[in-house]
Amino acid sequence: MNANEVALVTGGNKGIGREVVRRLAGQGFTVYLGARDPERGHCAVEELTSAPDGAARTAKSGGRGNGLDIRFVRLDVGDVASVRAAVTTIEAATGRLDVLVNNAGIMVEWDVRTTDITAAHLREVFEVNVFGVVTVTSACLPLLRRSPNPRVVNMSSGLGSLTLLSDPESPLPAQGFLAYSSSKAALNAVTLIYANALRADGIKVNAASPGLVPTDQNAAATFPRGDRSTADGAVVPVLLSTISADGPTGVFRGPNSLDDV
Ligand code: NDP
Repeated sequence: MNANEVALVTGGNKGIGREVVRRLAGQGFTVYLGARDPERGHCAVEELTSAPDGAARTAKSGGRGNGLDIRFVRLDVGDVASVRAAVTTIEAATGRLDVLVNNAGIMVEWDVRTTDITAAHLREVFEVNVFGVVTVTSACLPLLRRSPNPRVVNMSSGLGSLTLLSDPESPLPAQGFLAYSSSKAALNAVTLIYANALRADGIKVNAASPGLVPTDQNAAATFPRGDRSTADGAVVPVLLSTISADGPTGVFRGPNSLDDV
C-alpha cells in the first residue's frame, strides 16, 4: 500500500488514465484526477468513488464513497494557467506530490495520408503529447522535490520507437503516423533528458507503453485496435508509478517488458 502518497494523473477522466487513477487510489494513494473538462472530470470521480452498491455517492469535488481518495482537479495540459492553478490546489491540500503520470495524449491523423500531414497537425499533437508534458512536469517539480521518492511516468507508445519504426518487419501498423509517432519519439527523448537532469535529485522519470488498447483515441482506426483492456493498459504505468526509491530511471517499458521494472 502507498498510504499518504499523492499522485496526479493528467487526462484521468477516461481510457487508460482513468484506470491508472482507480488502481493507484486502490493502492492507497490520494489521487488527483486531472481533466480539462470539469463535467467529465467530476463525472469520472463520482463513478470511481461510488460504492459498488451505489449506496454512497460523492461530493462534487471528490470523494471516498468506496474508500478511494480521488479528487478532481481541472487541468488542460495546453493551458499554462490551468496547470499552475492545479499545482496550487494540490500544494494547498497536500504540500507535496509523489507521483506524476503524464497520461493525456491525442492522435488526429486517422483519415489523413502521411504525405498530406502538415506542420499544423504536428503542432496540434505536440501541443498535448510533448509540450503539455513539459509544462506539467516543470510546474510539478517543486512539489515532487518534497517527496522522499518522486516518480514521473510519461505515457509513450511503441509507435514512438525509432527502432521499431526503422524495422521493415515491425508488427506496428504499416500506415505511418507522422504527427503521433514523432510526438511519442520526442516524448521518449524528453523522458531521457529529464531522467538524466533529475537523477541527482532522486526524481525518477520513465516512459510506459500500454500496448494497443481500444479507447476513444483510436476509435477511428482502420486496423485492428487490439484486445487489451484498459486494466491491461494500466499495468505498466502503475508499476512504474510504484517503484521504490532504488528503482530505475530513464527506462521505456512496454507491455511485454515487465520483468525488470
Ligand atoms: P483516450 O482518448 O481514452 O484518453 C485521452 C485522455 O487525454 C482523455 O482524458 C482526454 O480528455 C485527455 N486529454 C486530451 N487532450 C488533453 C489536454 N489538452 N489536457 C488534458 N487532458 C487532455 O486515450 P487513451 O486512454 O488510449 O490514451 C492515454 C495515453 O496512452 C495517451 O498518451 C496515449 O497516446 C497513450 N497510448 C494509448 C494507446 C492505445 O492503444 N490506446 C497505445 C499507446 C499509447 P478529454 O476526455 O477531455 O478529451
